[in-house]
Amino acid sequence: MPKINLFFSILLIGSIPFTSNAQHTCSFIPTESSRGSFDLDARWQKSNITVSFVNGTPFLHNKVKKYASEWSKYANIQFEFVNYQEADIRVGFFQGKGSWSLLGNAAANFSKNIQTGEIEPGRGGISMNFGWFNHTTQEEEFARTILHEFGHALCLEHEHKNPIAGIKWNLEALHQYYLKNDGWSPNEVYHNVLKPNSEDQTNGEYDPWSIMHYPISPNLTLDGYGVDWNRALSPGDIKLIGQLYPKQPNQPFISTKSYSHLTTLTAGEGLWKLVYSKSSDPSGETWMTSPEFPAPSVFQKWGEQYQITHLSYLNDQWQIGLQQLSNQPPQLCLTNTDFPKADLLNYGEQGYSVACLTFGQKKWVLVLSKGYKNQFVHTSTEFPETQVEKKWDESYRITSLQFVEDQWCLIMQKNTEYLGQTYLLSTEFPSSEIEERQSEGYAITQIGYGAGNWLVVLSTGTPIAEQSILTTSKFKLDDIKQRLKR
Ligand SMILES: [Zn+2]
Repeated sequence: MPKINLFFSILLIGSIPFTSNAQHTCSFIPTESSRGSFDLDARWQKSNITVSFVNGTPFLHNKVKKYASEWSKYANIQFEFVNYQEADIRVGFFQGKGSWSLLGNAAANFSKNIQTGEIEPGRGGISMNFGWFNHTTQEEEFARTILHEFGHALCLEHEHKNPIAGIKWNLEALHQYYLKNDGWSPNEVYHNVLKPNSEDQTNGEYDPWSIMHYPISPNLTLDGYGVDWNRALSPGDIKLIGQLYPKQPNQPFISTKSYSHLTTLTAGEGLWKLVYSKSSDPSGETWMTSPEFPAPSVFQKWGEQYQITHLSYLNDQWQIGLQQLSNQPPQLCLTNTDFPKADLLNYGEQGYSVACLTFGQKKWVLVLSKGYKNQFVHTSTEFPETQVEKKWDESYRITSLQFVEDQWCLIMQKNTEYLGQTYLLSTEFPSSEIEERQSEGYAITQIGYGAGNWLVVLSTGTPIAEQSILTTSKFKLDDIKQRLKR
């Protein structure tokens, strides 16, 4: 489907520069003015960023140099102050023109013409302005404003627009306040204060102490919620900027992404183990659980471009995880009381391969996906350690694992996203070994329990950045849905 792919890439390219983010108005009132919020599209892909001054005095330049470099203590970012005009970030000190910055790398590609207020391609104009600094400005006003605008320049968004914040604004009071103090239209109030950032632009936490948060007078909210002046980087700001621009090269920046997935689950010794992951994979995910196989619901989800990625029958319940993967032909299900070997071969010849399989209510259920894959499907009462190692050498990786009918049942496949793979097999749940592997860059990709043993498969090369294992005696679908929302 090359046509559809092309369509998507055009959409993405076109949508980056001309959003409201590119023109990031951020007018503080002179007597006023992300844990957080950010725009990954605007993240700099380099660590040395050049900065020039278009006007202003050496006194003001030194203030900017001093406070901008605060961010460098916690991020792999150096600001290099240069004497030529066309730097990555071009700072102006135009009085009465507000304090604002373009968002992140938009500064390298766009300028604001200070005369016309227009955003233009290229570096002809400025990308940041300080509209009320002079030689009598208070030191904390320099600190607050410079830290905030350079936060924008590093791709941080306004924290009060974090969708998790849930601020109950008194809209009438808010519009009056900004009209009186800044001359903002309701539209400007919407863009600077109200318009929520999308959920994927937060790291799942709301930080009212962030330097990127406007102060909020309790008079402007319906429930008296207020936020005081933030004048320094908060612990949340420091954490977030370190995640976006990690100082250690092998620490993946994607750990800030808030996409949550339930990667795998199993049940053993009367407990459920659910492995949740933060991942850069944005595909939507949904889960079903039911005492009977929920065929109608599965058909419906297939129609909405979902594919089954997890299937198990544990403690008399079917658990089905689905992900929304566009451009994929529909799956199909094979069920049979005996393992449907002949059918499987047939479908294999038609170009299908097994996505997942399990055994429940006295029948095998196999989910097949279109797309031929080199597969190795294996069942045995003992975990087949030597076969697995042999297949690893042939660049197969474990993609599905179940203990069903007193047998370990695993699927190994070629050409997966997994680079390395390892497993832990243990009568005790191997928590500390898992943590050790995770610190080496492995993520849990499958988990199973059978014949008194926990089996945990860990892989590298996944989009997974952070994981947590939830242990619970009850399987509650509502809890899963709640967690996946974040
Ligand atoms: Zn701002």
